[in-house]
Amino acid sequence: MNSYDVTIIGSGPGGYVAAIRCAQLGMKTALIEKYSTLGGTCLNVGCIPSKALLDSSHHYEDAIKHFEEHGIEISGEVKVSLEKMIARKEKVVEQTTGGIDFLMKKNKIEVLNGLGSFKDATHILITKEDGSSEEIETKNVIVATGSKPSTLPFITIDKERVITSTEALKLKEIPKHLVVIGGGVIGLELGQVYRRLGAEVSVIEFMDRIIPTMDKAQSKELTKAMKKQGVKFHLSHRVSGVTNNGNEVTVTATDKKDREVSFTGDYCLVSVGRRPFTDGLNAENAGIKITERGQIEVNEHLQTNIANIYAIGDVIKGAMLAHKAEEEGVFVAETLAGQKPHIDYNLIPGVVYTWPEVASVGKTEEQLIESGIKYKSGQFPMRALGRSRASGDTDGFVKILSDETTDEVLGVHMVGARVADLIAEAVVAMEYRASAEDISRMSHAHPTYAEAVKEAALAATGDRALHI
Ligand code: FAD
Ligand code: NAD
Repeated sequence: MNSYDVTIIGSGPGGYVAAIRCAQLGMKTALIEKYSTLGGTCLNVGCIPSKALLDSSHHYEDAIKHFEEHGIEISGEVKVSLEKMIARKEKVVEQTTGGIDFLMKKNKIEVLNGLGSFKDATHILITKEDGSSEEIETKNVIVATGSKPSTLPFITIDKERVITSTEALKLKEIPKHLVVIGGGVIGLELGQVYRRLGAEVSVIEFMDRIIPTMDKAQSKELTKAMKKQGVKFHLSHRVSGVTNNGNEVTVTATDKKDREVSFTGDYCLVSVGRRPFTDGLNAENAGIKITERGQIEVNEHLQTNIANIYAIGDVIKGAMLAHKAEEEGVFVAETLAGQKPHIDYNLIPGVVYTWPEVASVGKTEEQLIESGIKYKSGQFPMRALGRSRASGDTDGFVKILSDETTDEVLGVHMVGARVADLIAEAVVAMEYRASAEDISRMSHAHPTYAEAVKEAALAATGDRALHI
């Protein structure tokens, strides 16, 4: 029987990064993955394919809506081939997952294909597609089995008309009317893709605003921008039923005045969150505790109740984000090597890759109010930047929240072009516990979108923004 220092179950961004760090630290490492390609949700049916389609559809929208204002005239019709767009996306996925194969070989990580299940705390069975199985022995285990789309009890996901993000990434036709249940990250990103390609898109959201966990100002700005793009929002709506009528889907809901309303489309995307995935893992054979919410329970070292078994990523508590899973992978590898790693969960940024993009780190204004922390707020609109006018991307703002007494930056919230990249500056600043004044005194290249960060910092230090 082969034996390893550490075995990782699941090859998503949590699992494969943990494997690389374990191998770097000298551990004999095995990585088990049930699918034939590595990379998990993120690389196969998540972050990467969704961004590929967002980029492709953005190019199309630019061509039909914005080229003209830049003086570019197209003679003849601009057409979309969804088939080619999806094929390109698949190529991007293939290249990216292939890159993980390379990294596994480079780091001498043993990749075992098949479903991993616990026999006991130190023995794992790997069951291959043909039914054959192999048993390995391991000193330590890192469970990184990720998550799957969740649904509502009365909805049947038929994968034809009533779909999740996985199917939405490989549709064969552009929907005429896509009804999206859930105005969170997936609903807005994929809703925007199909809106750009010509679909009517209706988003039905239970809360009174979209992206409800982000700063309220961001919800408002993104709603405004996406409404301009033609997306219809139905907020404070409680969905009560979804029926597939063959070529149509009818979604019924109760609005905020308790009236029954219905929406008929040709596709319904259910994007109401994801659930931790432990099916087939036989966690009970090792005695691993799973919470009522289906998450693997871990302590501050990301260790389960069984001393040699750790868990990371979407299968445990916290934000379901690829970079959070990666940090946790490195954290556990370094813990196993006897180091004392640290993760500041407050500084894990959140990004929505719509256009305008939305990015956040630290506390929202609502959280500061709720915890009674006195703060100052500085906000600067993107439309006041020369860079934004040059590109034509004038929606959005940067908002910096800093402590009223110490001026320490407590939260940074952005909407606008390329803010997914700009948020890194805020993370660095907050990691080093910068004040708003610190940021305001650093030179920011002109003309850049990043100047909005400096200007918002100037505004937070006392109404000192220069360009408004
Ligand atoms: P996963 O990536 O889910 O990987 C788990 C792996 O474990 C899977 O490959 C699975 O097959 C395997 N597995 C499960 N059980 C077993 C078993 N018993 N034996 C063997 N293998 C097993 N996050 C971002 O940060 N940025 C984004 O832009 C972003 N976009 C997204 C877009 C979409 C459409 C979706 C659905 C998600 C997106 N996410 C994004 C979230 C991100 O994909 C997840 O947070 C991330 O993949 C979690 O990583 P993980 O390693 O915990 O699990
Ligand atoms: P989400 O939690 O982001 O959004 C779900 C939305 O559905 C929320 O706004 C919620 O209020 C709403 N909702 C819940 N129940 C509802 C109901 N009965 N009727 C109407 N609305 C309802 O979940 P998601 O968009 O499905 O994404 C799942 C996970 O994947 C998220 O945790 C997210 O972090 C991750 N993800 C991240 C990115 C990114 O980082 N850019 C992109 C896609 C997905």
